[in-house]
Amino acid sequence: MKLHEYQSKQIFAKYGIPIPKGRVAVTASEARQIAEELGGRVVVKSQVLVGGRGKAGGIQLANNPEHAEELATKILGMEIKGLPVRKVLVDEAANIDQEIYLGITTDRAARKPVMMASAAGGIEIEEVARQTPEKIIKVHIDPLLGLRDYQARNIACNIDLSRDYWRDFGKIANGLWNAYAATDATLAEINPLVTTKDKRLIALDGKMLVDDNAMFRHPDLTEMRDLDTETRAETDARKYGLSYIQLEGDIGCMVNGAGLAMTTMDIVKLFGGAPANFLDIGGGASAEKVAAALRIILSDPNVKAVLFNVFGGITRCDEVARGVLAALDEVRPEVPMVVRLVGTNAEEGRQLLADANMITAETLADAAQKAIAAAKGEAS
Ligand code: GDP
Ligand code: MN
Repeated sequence: MKLHEYQSKQIFAKYGIPIPKGRVAVTASEARQIAEELGGRVVVKSQVLVGGRGKAGGIQLANNPEHAEELATKILGMEIKGLPVRKVLVDEAANIDQEIYLGITTDRAARKPVMMASAAGGIEIEEVARQTPEKIIKVHIDPLLGLRDYQARNIACNIDLSRDYWRDFGKIANGLWNAYAATDATLAEINPLVTTKDKRLIALDGKMLVDDNAMFRHPDLTEMRDLDTETRAETDARKYGLSYIQLEGDIGCMVNGAGLAMTTMDIVKLFGGAPANFLDIGGGASAEKVAAALRIILSDPNVKAVLFNVFGGITRCDEVARGVLAALDEVRPEVPMVVRLVGTNAEEGRQLLADANMITAETLADAAQKAIAAAKGEAS
């Protein structure tokens, strides 16, 4: 789950990282009011969950409250990379001296979190990583020991940060690590972390990604989820405990088990088809869950055929079949359905589905080919 800049910065502040004074507004007049409270120059920042807001015109400096209102009106009417701007953050403007990049992510190969920093912070860190990777310092963090003081000092030294800032930098680096660890984040990033003309270090921007698998232990973060940024189908899937990821193809896939779901997608591709989604209905395919999954798959207008691939182990195949039938009764799909059912009582299950005009298959290869043909409108 992605957090907005203002949400990330609120978390940063809790861990002792200095952030600019400011608040979120949903209307332009609110933005003006915040600017009045802050006094002086402010920066009006679109809150959308994509990078490159600055370049898209979604971040603007205002000289006075009237100007802030004017800019907020403009920004609140924008769409950035397809996402509507519904909120702006109005922050006290900083007098920037230097822009630094500081972030933590998980280095899967090293099986450890890694802190990254660069003196070349600001809006083009991806370019820096591509063209001059040596300008990015990396330090692995032992998750049990946490970030050590000497590591933070090493980073500060390597990004040529003036010694006057080392103490504060150490607190910020440590705060970022604590925020990352405490929220089960997979990314915590400050870009830019700036030094100001009046000699302060401040986190001007913030970005966090939190591991969805850990959300159960973060009810406070769960509330921060912005439903505007995911498709309706993804929201529904979460509600029913289904793992669903929409893709570009036209073969809807309904499978029990994540491994089997991936295999199914691979086999569809092997025979020249394109899966429309990844979907794992999990164990115990109840009619309710199957119906929800079917509705979700069919809400994608690209889907031209649905491929069920279910292994009935603990749940018997005839039960699964009854679940599917109940779901069909409710959803009444118009696209062809291909079913491969194996496991306990597979024969009975298949018969039930064949009687309901579903195309049945015995092997996955057979099912994939039938689904691809059906999607092209070829009878099988
Ligand atoms: P991003 O483009 O989505 O990464 O948004 P950022 O919050 O990182 O802002 C992009 C750039 O805008 C920063 O790198 C700064 O150069 C500039 N910027 C952001 N806030 C301020 C501010 O308070 N004062 C000044 N002068 N520039 C700012
Ligand atoms: Mn940024």
